[in-house]
Amino acid sequence: MAHSGHDKKARKEALYKELELQLDLAINGITVDSEEIGKLDAVYARRLTSISHATPLSFNFVGGKIKGPGFDAGFRQQKDSIYGLEAEDGKPVIYKYGRIKTRVGAIEFREKERHPLLDITTRDGVPFHTIAAIREDGQVHVNYSQECVLKEKGEDCLFCNYSVREATLKTPQQVGEVFSTLYNAGVGKHLNLTSGFLYERKELDYYLDVADEIQSRTGLKEFRATAVIGAPLDFSVIDKYKEAGYFSVRMNIEIWDKNIWNAICPGKRNHCGGWENWVKALEYAVGVFGRGRVASNIVGGIEPKNSILEGVEYKLSKGIVASASSWRPVAGSVLEGHRSPETAWHFDLQRQIAALYKRYNFSLTDLHNVSPSAGLAVTLFQIDQEDFDENGELRAWQYP
Ligand code: SF4
Repeated sequence: MAHSGHDKKARKEALYKELELQLDLAINGITVDSEEIGKLDAVYARRLTSISHATPLSFNFVGGKIKGPGFDAGFRQQKDSIYGLEAEDGKPVIYKYGRIKTRVGAIEFREKERHPLLDITTRDGVPFHTIAAIREDGQVHVNYSQECVLKEKGEDCLFCNYSVREATLKTPQQVGEVFSTLYNAGVGKHLNLTSGFLYERKELDYYLDVADEIQSRTGLKEFRATAVIGAPLDFSVIDKYKEAGYFSVRMNIEIWDKNIWNAICPGKRNHCGGWENWVKALEYAVGVFGRGRVASNIVGGIEPKNSILEGVEYKLSKGIVASASSWRPVAGSVLEGHRSPETAWHFDLQRQIAALYKRYNFSLTDLHNVSPSAGLAVTLFQIDQEDFDENGELRAWQYP
């Protein structure tokens, strides 16, 4: 038995290392020269040249233990990274450059077949795949608008590049029809419904219309869906989401330190009643939806680590599913050109958050109640819990 305990410890250490490497690759990106693409077998070359924002490429290390879904770093091309992709016998291999060039390992791209249901069209003739995406764990993801009204006003969050001007709004009927069809077929299990910022009234009306459509098409009073919303000024609005049948809500505060929040999230400051109102709205929502059915993310890497951990712990102590993402400055945001903290900083933050999930008795189910799930810390939490399948791989989460 002592031997198996030792094996588990070694397996956990190997998984931590693999995850930290994936995170480092996500933060730094990977340089891909067209010359190397030319040396790859056609199947790999085709996958690499098909990457777009809408279809990011996921990959595993050949022989690695992290297969997703869960924390899924994705393959991100970046000029002049410390990492590069080279072809070996036509297969993609990642190298790390520096004083000594090291071979990190061969990778394989994860096959993502589009589910045939996504090829059908809505009543008004729009292909399902332009409305929603389905994850392997049964989560249906819908961004109903690419627009954020804060952008137009110059009040957008400084880390964000989300908004596309005059983006088309997917209608509530389309969203309801697509999710209900996927749900009724047993394919879609949990809807994550999100968008840029709309004003309170407009946002609520939209979500209520989607709920009507889902209820009438599925016959469900409550349906598994997370409404991602801004903190309202009038808290009775939160009750309306619950009454409409939503399973959970997410209100991302983004930054915990109040002064830094004021500077980084001017639109949220100006239109959502200030930082205290945001925190109070989260606490109120737990009273309405229950523990583990309200979530809020912090963009990890802008404020000091102790401030993020204070925010995460405060929220968990109130029954809110708290998380931090790993900030990577994006082109088109005000913070473009800035740098994220070191990977070791991010990894340590995520490990501390995973430990807090345990301390506050959150279960894996709680952490997935509020989509799109809490990311890397959840995977670390699973490793800490030794939640492995018979092959020694992390047990893949599936929505019920
Ligand atoms: S993060 Fe801020 S700027 Fe970006 S979409 Fe949300 S509210 Fe708008």
